Amino acid sequence: MRHILRTLLFCLVSLWMTSAAWAAGKTELIWYGHAAFKIVTPQGHVLFVDPWLVNPVNPDGAQDLEKVDKADLILVSHGHFDHVGNAVEIAKKTKAKLVTTFDLGNALVSYGGFPKEQAGYDSLGNFGGTVSFFDDEIKITFIPAVHSSAFTHADTATQQELPEYAGNPGGFLIVIKDGPTIYHTGDTDLFGDMALISRHHAVDVMLACIGDHFTMGPQGAAQAVSLVKPRKVVPMHYGTFPTVLTGTLDAFRAALQRNKMADRLTPMTLEKPVLF
Ligand SMILES: [Zn+2]
Repeated sequence: MRHILRTLLFCLVSLWMTSAAWAAGKTELIWYGHAAFKIVTPQGHVLFVDPWLVNPVNPDGAQDLEKVDKADLILVSHGHFDHVGNAVEIAKKTKAKLVTTFDLGNALVSYGGFPKEQAGYDSLGNFGGTVSFFDDEIKITFIPAVHSSAFTHADTATQQELPEYAGNPGGFLIVIKDGPTIYHTGDTDLFGDMALISRHHAVDVMLACIGDHFTMGPQGAAQAVSLVKPRKVVPMHYGTFPTVLTGTLDAFRAALQRNKMADRLTPMTLEKPVLF
């Protein structure tokens, strides 16, 4: 009897804590390594950004993918494999809509097997444009990036890898009602127009690539933080391929320190949710 009462009490307290978090308008952010994130909004809507869950630094990637049972939106910043990731698998099992450029959307439907009915005009866009969902609970603006974009797939006859046109690469500004404004940089170099973002929006969380080689490294990323002026910055796209993506958390911290912005650094641990 005492055991049952204790279990009941535990359940009630857990329920109260969960509902208290939602009531406070908390948004949950989960990092799966590389540039892959899951966002759960205060109303419970689920977004995946660049969902390469099965990546080399995530030992639980396959289980994580299997566990996905709800997604409303899948955001893909550009056509490279490490960003398209598991978007098609997630789309097929959740019916989530694809948020990306019109061109990459077409490429993913034509060559990647993304369900056509989940990649329409309501969720595809282009730079400068904003798409809104769920009575404006989520507004997503397409932000340019200085990078490249092609979607590569195996030719069915020859199995030869073929690169297809996939539009221009980008990032996303995600404005969540009663929640944070999140800027996911995608893969990019530092560019001066990042300063325009902070002119029009107070960014709460910046998800910034720091790995170097294919994107800005720690130094450039710290300058990007100076332009965007986020409340918090979460480093990403580093360490996945250590011999290539050589930018480190320590180097990023040191660069932020030089710019007197180290207090904004919010490193995330794989699969450990953070509430904003
Ligand atoms: Zn990348």
